[in-house]
Amino acid sequence: MMKNSITRLAPSPTGALHLGNARTFLLNGLLAKQQGWRMLFRMEDLDGPRIKAGADEQAIDDLHWLGLDWEGPVVVQSERTALYQAALENLIESGNAYPCICSRKEIEQAASAPTTEDSTGLNSVQYPGTCRERFDKYDNALKQSDRPPAWRVHVRNENINFVDQFAGPQSFNLAETSGDFVIFRNQGLAAYQLAVVIDDAEAGVNQIVRADDLLESAAMQIHLRRLLGIDDDVKYYHLPLVTGPDGRKLAKRHGDTKISTYRQDGTSVSRMLGLLGYWSGQLERREETDFKTLLAKFDISRVPRKPIVFTQEDDAFLRG
Ligand code: GLU
Repeated sequence: MMKNSITRLAPSPTGALHLGNARTFLLNGLLAKQQGWRMLFRMEDLDGPRIKAGADEQAIDDLHWLGLDWEGPVVVQSERTALYQAALENLIESGNAYPCICSRKEIEQAASAPTTEDSTGLNSVQYPGTCRERFDKYDNALKQSDRPPAWRVHVRNENINFVDQFAGPQSFNLAETSGDFVIFRNQGLAAYQLAVVIDDAEAGVNQIVRADDLLESAAMQIHLRRLLGIDDDVKYYHLPLVTGPDGRKLAKRHGDTKISTYRQDGTSVSRMLGLLGYWSGQLERREETDFKTLLAKFDISRVPRKPIVFTQEDDAFLRG
């Protein structure tokens, strides 16, 4: 029997959905409907201090408004610590995880690679491996620090290769990029990379559609899957980002591009879909449309390969 194809929408309630997130989620929804994939929903709320109250409900409301739907129930990461903990134990037992007491500042000072920003909210700095062979026991790490240790996973000096369905062939040597990366943070919460792997595996997710600032994360996740003995029979579609005129990923610094703000200001869903469809190469110009129309002509190969730049004309179109 052929395996079900399953995908998911996985917003982080660290802020309201903006035009860039909306475009990625819309493309995920269109692709899923067109291909007959099942759609699940997961709230990625592990990033404690950055979570905004009410952003979870707002994201659900905005996504429904855009015409997206999914099977329930909504999976909430903050309720699943025990599962992530079990995976951590597994990695500790197999000798692949170790406690780390380095502060962010110490790592930044020791790092040779530049700091990069991705949508996991982590500034991923290459970890030089300071704590790798440092402690024979967790308790020793605990004793030497005034806060609880984090946990890191060993990476290998080898290429992790995969073919992205949209972005093409990829190759990452994690020893040269992230270094041993954090899988459990010192607040006792699973880090993004581990939580995603466990959740996707448990739900049978095998089609992952998201923005291409997570391409390297895919290699980290493949690495974790291999260490945990989870099959890596997953297809990835990493799509270009929407940026501001400065070429940086769309964010607050580019003004208020929240879906909820446009809605409040009276933007119709047909205009919103019209802009997102145009940005995605599905419409020749900005014009009002609906989900059904976009779906009927959807062709992923028409999605531009380069980042989309949000302009004044886009904003003016949304405001009618
Ligand atoms: N929560 C992530 C985001 O909002 C997506 C993570 C994923 O799809 O794996 O960018």
